[in-house]
Amino acid sequence: MEDNQGERWLYSEVLRSRGHHVIATADAESAWTSFVVTPFPLVVLDLVLPSADGLDLCRRIRAHALGADPVILVVTGKRDPNVIQESLDAGADDYLAKPLDLALLNLRLAVAEREVILKRERRTDQDRVTAQAEETRALLANLDEVIFSLDPRSNSLMRVSPAAGRIVGRSSTELLADKSLWRTLLYPHEVEVREQELTAGVNRTIVHRWQIRLPTGDSRWVEVAVKGARDEAGKLVRVDGVLSDVTEAQRSQDELAARNQELMTLYRISEVTLTATSTERAYEEILEELSKATGFSIAAILRFDAEHDRLVLTAGWGMPAGMARVDMPVHDSLAGVVVRTGQPVAEFNAGACQQMANDLLQGLGIQTYLAFPMVVSQEVVGALIFAHTDAMEPDRRLVRWAGSLANGVAQFIDRVAAQEALRDSEQGYRRLAEELQQANQELERFAYSVSHDLRAPLRTMQGFAHALIQNFGDRLPGEARDYAQRIIASGQQSEILIRDLLAYSRLSFEGLELQPVALAKVVAAAREQLEGDLREAHADIAVEGELPQVLGQTTTLVQVVANLISNAIKFVPVGGHPRIRLRAEEGDRWVRLWVQDNGIGIPPGQEDRIFRVFERLAEVGARPGTGIGLAIVRRGMERMGGRAGVETTEGGGSSFWLDIPRVEGAPRSAWLRKKS
Ligand code: ADP
Repeated sequence: MEDNQGERWLYSEVLRSRGHHVIATADAESAWTSFVVTPFPLVVLDLVLPSADGLDLCRRIRAHALGADPVILVVTGKRDPNVIQESLDAGADDYLAKPLDLALLNLRLAVAEREVILKRERRTDQDRVTAQAEETRALLANLDEVIFSLDPRSNSLMRVSPAAGRIVGRSSTELLADKSLWRTLLYPHEVEVREQELTAGVNRTIVHRWQIRLPTGDSRWVEVAVKGARDEAGKLVRVDGVLSDVTEAQRSQDELAARNQELMTLYRISEVTLTATSTERAYEEILEELSKATGFSIAAILRFDAEHDRLVLTAGWGMPAGMARVDMPVHDSLAGVVVRTGQPVAEFNAGACQQMANDLLQGLGIQTYLAFPMVVSQEVVGALIFAHTDAMEPDRRLVRWAGSLANGVAQFIDRVAAQEALRDSEQGYRRLAEELQQANQELERFAYSVSHDLRAPLRTMQGFAHALIQNFGDRLPGEARDYAQRIIASGQQSEILIRDLLAYSRLSFEGLELQPVALAKVVAAAREQLEGDLREAHADIAVEGELPQVLGQTTTLVQVVANLISNAIKFVPVGGHPRIRLRAEEGDRWVRLWVQDNGIGIPPGQEDRIFRVFERLAEVGARPGTGIGLAIVRRGMERMGGRAGVETTEGGGSSFWLDIPRVEGAPRSAWLRKKS
């Protein structure tokens, strides 16, 4: 802009020669219009213009640079320093004094051009920074988390992202302005202990979770992760934090913990039902568990007495000792509604409830009252009550859970009733068995004493029969002597019978002490006892292989073995000679002793019968005996913890066996093992 045409031409030419595109104007107004259309980067301006003050144009351009921020070079004829200062104040970058020196003009233009380039570069940088800042702002605004920084020296909030408004319900401006507010919401004092870890130089992220209350009254769980930023010397200069809304996560965590707690309670209740020493104790422990788990100070089980239409207190927890009432009418009572309808009742303002007047808990100042039906086989058998003197907030989850607990308790009560019935009948059976055993023992003792007492008159009778024959034998008719002989023979027979019976019943109640016994010695003693019989019958008796040690009582064992050998001698076909073989087999728990003969054998199906008292088979014919020998064998073995039995031997004869307990820890004979 230059009003002087000559000078305008000069400037234009010089500028063009420097490669610029030039817009030349003669007055300020057209200059401003041109600038508004094309904001040029370099303005050469004559200070004294005809229509307007050059300084004014200068200011306008500066004020409305339209992003161009041009370099302004003022040309003035006045050399007054005040005027120069004024133009610089108005926004000029440089000045040139008239008259113009071409070389100086070129130099000044070169400086101005460099300035234009610098300005452009600065502008680009600035644009980039602005764009970045804008991106960061958009990012922070978009994030769900609140990002913030604290100044550890002044203990103040330096920055906080706009998400704060959404999560903690306060704008960043509010938080930045209020020291205590940001403290409570973003980083409360309780966390300061951990904050000290930051100052102590611990270089890791510290996470903390807490609950905040929003201005709306709602509460929310937030989690903050903070980390210290340090300078090169390691000094803490800033604390950066991210705060996120973890309400959902916390809720599911709480839900999970609650479910776990519910399961634990159910588990403990089932444990109690299995381990409690008595039903009363079990009820008490169950109610204690329920009270602990639900937070209700009172828990009670009420049984429904249908006959009298009343609810009777079965067990209570947290109730004052010696309660005035232990039952109440179903009608008019709150718990009665449960029994009548089969639906739970929840009263969170029980103090004002009419029906509490009739309740067992009346007078205890109950505010919260929950009652659940206890159902067994689709029938309401009672109610489970939870009560508290405080008003509690209605909690649907608690109500649902307590309801399921009520069912668990009902099942338990049902089971207890069944168990009690079973226990009663079991006890009955046991008592009966004991009575039976006692009666048996008494009978056996009676038989024993009768048998014992019979011996004396029998002997007297025999003695007199002998005396009759000895003293008057020659004077007696033959028939009378024969009678006397028969009395003696029957007497002998009776005596044998009594002896055997006594031996048998003694076995039933005499104490037996078991000791390691050499089986070989037992067999030898039995053979010695029967030496006469063996010789008389021309018996061939042999022991095959070794006989090990066993656990038993010597006398009883000798008697048992002797009875078997005696039978083997006795039950041979008429005119035959007995051939008896004894051998042992060793098993894990038993030593089996076999006594085999070549006798008349046992008909199939009779193997068990012959071991009973007085049982003799038809095959025995006139062979002597009482039918007690094998009964002694079986009972003797049983008393020693063993067994006895018989098998038919191939090719005739019988094989009796005895299973006698092994001596624990005794080595097993290699020979015997091979044989078995
Ligand atoms: P007893 O020998 O006094 O008849 P036991 O109780 O010893 O009474 O035997 C009962 C019955 O078993 C015998 O009467 C006989 O019928 C049968 N019995 C026992 N041992 C043998 C045997 N070794 N061979 C065949 N039958 C036998």
